[in-house]
Amino acid sequence: MSARKAAPAFVKRSCRWGALRTKVDALIVGGGLIGCAAAWHLALAGMEVMLVEQASTGSGASGQNAGSLHFQIERRFLERKGGLGLEGEQTATLSRIAIDDWSTLEDRLGVSLHVHMNGGLMVAENADQVAILKAKADRERAMGLSVETIDGAEARRRAPYLSEGIVAANFMAAEGHADTRKIAPAFATAATAAGAEIQIRTRLTKLEWQGASFRAEIIGSEGAFTVGAKKVLVAAGVWSARIAAMANLHLPLFPVGLTMSASERTPHFLPHLVQHVAQRLSMKQTEAGNILIGGGWPSRLHRVDGIFDLSRPAELIIQSLRNNLSVATKTVPRVADLNLIRTWTGVTAVTPDQLPIAGEFPTMPGLFCAAGGSAFTLGPTFARLVADQMLERERDEADRLLAVASPARFDSLNGFMGR
Ligand SMILES: Cc1cc2nc3c(=O)[nH]c(=O)nc-3n(C[C@H](O)[C@H](O)[C@H](O)COP(=O)(O)OP(=O)(O)OC[C@H]3O[C@@H](n4cnc5c(N)ncnc54)[C@H](O)[C@@H]3O)c2cc1C
Repeated sequence: MSARKAAPAFVKRSCRWGALRTKVDALIVGGGLIGCAAAWHLALAGMEVMLVEQASTGSGASGQNAGSLHFQIERRFLERKGGLGLEGEQTATLSRIAIDDWSTLEDRLGVSLHVHMNGGLMVAENADQVAILKAKADRERAMGLSVETIDGAEARRRAPYLSEGIVAANFMAAEGHADTRKIAPAFATAATAAGAEIQIRTRLTKLEWQGASFRAEIIGSEGAFTVGAKKVLVAAGVWSARIAAMANLHLPLFPVGLTMSASERTPHFLPHLVQHVAQRLSMKQTEAGNILIGGGWPSRLHRVDGIFDLSRPAELIIQSLRNNLSVATKTVPRVADLNLIRTWTGVTAVTPDQLPIAGEFPTMPGLFCAAGGSAFTLGPTFARLVADQMLERERDEADRLLAVASPARFDSLNGFMGR
């Protein structure tokens, strides 16, 4: 998308005694795209930042996901009858901001992330589905998103690969996709260059609130150490509820296993993001030519003593794979001729209202969280806005934009927690 220069690549691989800070302005837990992006913003603003990541940057959902930049109201918000995506509509303002964030990200980071924003089609196959598309587009336009409903012939004119069974589509020009494997490491490199200390293979094991600050116990490859932090950002994805529990807080985030597949490489023919309004489907073609197929088909989480085991990848459900490929080949018939080269599972986090959680805990000032939701699409925006809150920079505006995602809406869960 743009001319790039290589950014310096230096991420600390282990604790180096003596070099480690024992006090920081901000401790970030989790080296996914949100944690690494927040570290970059905070370090650029002059904060002393330490980020701890138990594995490697991007090893969680940030590196496993479908890479869709979907700014239309998501299909999962349409599943509940009658609601027509009311919750999804509430994230429309964030989607508008995320479009701008993604459009400039490669230039700001100085690296290629294989960002392609060539438009996205959400397709329909019958009159009921078309009615949903139209009502959805009306709502999106009312929220300031630019989307048009086109008929099947126009959809095939723009996207000749679509099946004859597609009778309409909602087209949004800003939608697209990016390379999931690049994003968190790119933010980590930029954060390190800005002065953040990023410790990989380093795990937070204990977090104590001491009123005005926090005390964190951490274990790295060279042993355990303690860090004092004025502010803490929990950006630990699906593990975030466990980190919040260390601080004696309930955080209603629940793990869900999903399924993804990639075809062999084929000459480029699919420049768009393709989704289905009534079926679980996302499709796109990578820079290298593989077709990525996903859309929310479940995989099975392992359990130990009845508790979901987040240390193991979720197990593939063959029927999910079959269903996913069936929707894909029905929508874009030519993918049926391609060999599948890889199927994988990933685990992400959902909340009771399906909306993300981003902001400061009212019951524990100084503790922030950014997790849940479709945080590949919205992650860079969450990270920037939560960093603004942590910096007390344009705080009112950040609070306003993140109000829909504030942890305050689950505050009643923590009313009985002793301190
Ligand atoms: C299969 C799949 C497909 C998806 N598709 C899309 C999509 O197309 N578009 C979209 O917008 N979203 C998508 N998502 C969701 C998206 O991937 C996530 O919302 C996003 O990546 C979350 O980023 P994160 O930084 O919050 O968390 P993660 O990337 O999960 O990072 C959290 C990190 O915290 C670390 N951590 C945990 N506990 C500790 C600890 N105690 N100490 C230190 N580190 C710790 C973990 O190792 C991990 O690296 C998908 C998710 C999946 C699984």
